[in-house]
Amino acid sequence: MTKYKLEYIWLDGYTPTPNLRGKTQIKEYGSFPTLEDLPLWGFDGSSTMQAEGSSSDCVLKPVRVFPDAARKDGALVLCEVMMPDGETPHPTNKRATILDDDGAWFGFEQEYFFYKDGRPLGFPADGYPAPQGKYYTGVGYAQVGSISREIVEEHLDLCLAAGINHEGINAEVAKGQWEFQIFGKGSKKAADEMWMARYLLERLTEKYGVDVEYHCKPLGDTDWNGSGMHANFSTTYLREVGGEPYFLALMDAFEAACADHIAVYGPDNHMRLTGKHETQAIDQFSWGIADRGASIRVPHSFPRNGYKGYLEDRRPNSQGDPYQIASQILKTVASVDTA
Ligand code: ADP
Ligand code: MN
Ligand code: MN
Ligand code: MN
Ligand code: MN
Repeated sequence: MTKYKLEYIWLDGYTPTPNLRGKTQIKEYGSFPTLEDLPLWGFDGSSTMQAEGSSSDCVLKPVRVFPDAARKDGALVLCEVMMPDGETPHPTNKRATILDDDGAWFGFEQEYFFYKDGRPLGFPADGYPAPQGKYYTGVGYAQVGSISREIVEEHLDLCLAAGINHEGINAEVAKGQWEFQIFGKGSKKAADEMWMARYLLERLTEKYGVDVEYHCKPLGDTDWNGSGMHANFSTTYLREVGGEPYFLALMDAFEAACADHIAVYGPDNHMRLTGKHETQAIDQFSWGIADRGASIRVPHSFPRNGYKGYLEDRRPNSQGDPYQIASQILKTVASVDTA
């Protein structure tokens, strides 16, 4: 028997953006535990904006388990928050709102900044470094500094060891800004793994004394790029049937539901979706082939293949909750007739 360190991880009740929380319990197993081996657990919801002090118990229900390479005999246990009955999803549990379908594939591109002492990592104490230009996919100390790549590489290895379907990384347009991509067949799978990857990044950067800044426009109204979390998505129907009339009806539905989408695409998005820096304005909806200034970018291959394949919604921002984003996209897709 081995004593495993089980890190139960959940999302708290802060709005508009929940925070990751975690606590450890030790349990003995003969081999690495499966989901069925993991018991429900509880926590004090009055400390996480999830309950009143007078009746503070919330329930943690394990939904995914991953190996934790940073910890000897460690497991990362991703949980949904449930009401005290253990069966009713807590109102803050947005994962439970996804009408899932294994045929829905999602690829999220998470952009973020590393911050140190209140400034992007690599910025001088006063003023600004050289303007944007050579940082994106750059190499060399002047481009990426000395510790960001080390953190990014270590994060990638932790994600791969956990079995997260990490697809790639790149240095981004602003100094101190990076991106990683996660793809999943099943929207819950993709969104779960995005939250786990965020957890691993936040935990890893503790020892470097570096913060992860997920705000979508941390440098405000300047010529420094903001951070997005583009949501690439496809359904079985989009991949296998598609067609121009269906695609146009889908885009009409997205236009009609624009406000519902923006509502869950992350806070302060008006600062980022300005129509500049490869974005569409927050109150406009547009789609375009290979157009990075559109709300939805249609890959070149899509019309070429008979309007089949995947689409990229460029509006979700870096602080958005992938559960809520996927939930809204699938709701709008479901409103369009495939007959
Ligand atoms: P870019 O930076 O040019 O927008 P990336 O390579 O960073 O492109 O991201 C493209 C994303 O599209 C990847 O995360 C990938 O997983 C996702 N993707 C590719 N094919 C599909 C598909 N059929 N359905 C959903 N997502 C897809
Ligand atoms: Mn990308
Ligand atoms: Mn990017
Ligand atoms: Mn970008
Ligand atoms: Mn993209």
